Amino acid sequence: MEQLAIFGGVPVRTTPISYGKQYIDKDDIAAVTEAMLSPELTCGPRIAELERKLCEVTGAEYAVAVSNGTAALHLAAMTAGFQEGDEVIVSPITFAASANCILYCGAKPVFADINPETYNIDPRSVEKLITSRTKGIVAVDFTGQSIEQDAVRDICTEHGLVLIEDAAHAIGTRYQGRPVGSMADMTCFSFHPVKTVTAGEGGAITTNDIEKYHRLLRLRTHGITRNREEMVHPTDARWYNEQVELGFNYRMTDIQAALLLSQLKKLPSFARRRKEIVEKYNRAFSGMPELKVQREIPESDTVRHLYILRLNPDMLSCDRREFFDALWAENIRSQVHYLPVYRHSYYEKLGYEKGLCPNAEAYYREAMSLPLYYDMTDADVEDVIHAVRKIVAYYRSQAVRDAL
Ligand SMILES: *Cc1c(COP(=O)(O)O)cnc(C)c1O
Repeated sequence: MEQLAIFGGVPVRTTPISYGKQYIDKDDIAAVTEAMLSPELTCGPRIAELERKLCEVTGAEYAVAVSNGTAALHLAAMTAGFQEGDEVIVSPITFAASANCILYCGAKPVFADINPETYNIDPRSVEKLITSRTKGIVAVDFTGQSIEQDAVRDICTEHGLVLIEDAAHAIGTRYQGRPVGSMADMTCFSFHPVKTVTAGEGGAITTNDIEKYHRLLRLRTHGITRNREEMVHPTDARWYNEQVELGFNYRMTDIQAALLLSQLKKLPSFARRRKEIVEKYNRAFSGMPELKVQREIPESDTVRHLYILRLNPDMLSCDRREFFDALWAENIRSQVHYLPVYRHSYYEKLGYEKGLCPNAEAYYREAMSLPLYYDMTDADVEDVIHAVRKIVAYYRSQAVRDAL
């Protein structure tokens, strides 16, 4: 058997490989350069063009570009009307921002458990948590796989809830042929460099509701409006604008928009390559009883942002920490997505306790993310698979060895 690098053996590769990174080409650089030399660096024509393009990609009626994905979630939560006294149901296996946006509004995040196989929010768990105070759901398309749209939508319709979809992982994904971004009341995207397409920093909200659209536009710029119909003191004076509520500066620059527009041209090829890599991983790992492969619901045609490797602890003599460190020593720089949000010490201080979502906690003990990005070569993918197989062979539990 090959000696693991962590115990002095030869690592599978000499140069480290990270779990994700951006892909920037000459066209992206040219687009940014052109934007920098244009008269408007912010609030210019590239923002309008980007918003049209996002509508095209997502099938939504309206899109609002903002400074990052967290700002998108914050504005969506405000526009949903979440406020003190409200409860909002959210998945715990997500980046903290999905729940933080509920706290920004003074409302209370209520964590529903995940489906143990898809890792997305479990509609049955959501239903059990609904009270007279429940105002909405923030549902995350975790790893890029669509939530169970029909089941979640039915719950929202029945109880009069606002559905915010956190699609930071899911640009390009479709559910029964419909693109993510066209289905929820508001869908939020992130264009951080680790996501499928990037603006450096950036985000957007899509919606089909014109009133929500106008509110989002206003909140993006301090709550200030130039639309006379929204003013308390309308006038036709050319200089006049009016702050009608408390908003923010969450604008995106035209420089960022130029980069993102250029990146979006490559989305089809980014998506194709990500799917290829996911298929290679699935082929390699799905027959291994020591590992669990994320289940894909047939309705979701997924552009995967993360590839989760999950250990089957009954079949291995190591824990996730040992496996993770062994991968690291082989120069595969994995990451863990995510600590259940309510296990962060800040949330602990708010009174959330361990044991709240057993499926999420079991997932967290066993999961790590393998490298997945556009310009990974086939040789890179093979290195990752080789490293995983090598570590599994080493830690395969005695019971499994005996059975082989
Ligand atoms: C990245 C991410 C965000 C936040 O986006 P930023 O652009 O980094 O602010 C929110 N939710 C999820 C699930 C994310 O992965």
